[in-house]
Amino acid sequence: MKNTPQMKMAYESMKPGIITLDGFLGSDSRSLMDIIVADEAEIARRGLTSAELAQNMRRIRDEGRKGEGLFEFVQPHFDVLVESVRGVLSCPFPGCGAIKKVNTTVVNKQTGKTISFSDLAIHLIEEHSFFQGRGSSFRLDPCELIEILEIKEDPH
Ligand SMILES: [Zn+2]
Repeated sequence: MKNTPQMKMAYESMKPGIITLDGFLGSDSRSLMDIIVADEAEIARRGLTSAELAQNMRRIRDEGRKGEGLFEFVQPHFDVLVESVRGVLSCPFPGCGAIKKVNTTVVNKQTGKTISFSDLAIHLIEEHSFFQGRGSSFRLDPCELIEILEIKEDPH
């Protein structure tokens, strides 16, 4: 991935007050490219890809959605709450369009650890390998995602 004009436009849209009040970058002073490359390297060290993480998030969200706004048990030992509110958020990368405001909370009952992510976060991970900047309250640490959602390396 190169530091294209699209990347520069995305970076501008990620600043506070453009799409969301707090923006997507937190206190991270690294470039968008550096943030993405570092997270991708961490995921690759665990034998996984961003797309695989996003697929797992999506699967758990889809199963949790059966609870219709209440916690739903999802195998092997997750309690999952999927909440939708009115409205949409734009992906900060140009050309992607709007994504519905849906938030998923996953409680790993084995470890007691909880993680929350939006549909926009799933999209950002799946399409852009972007987990948001350090210090952002919406940053999803890839290692935490892998640990709490128990994402395993594909054996083949
Ligand atoms: Zn996008």
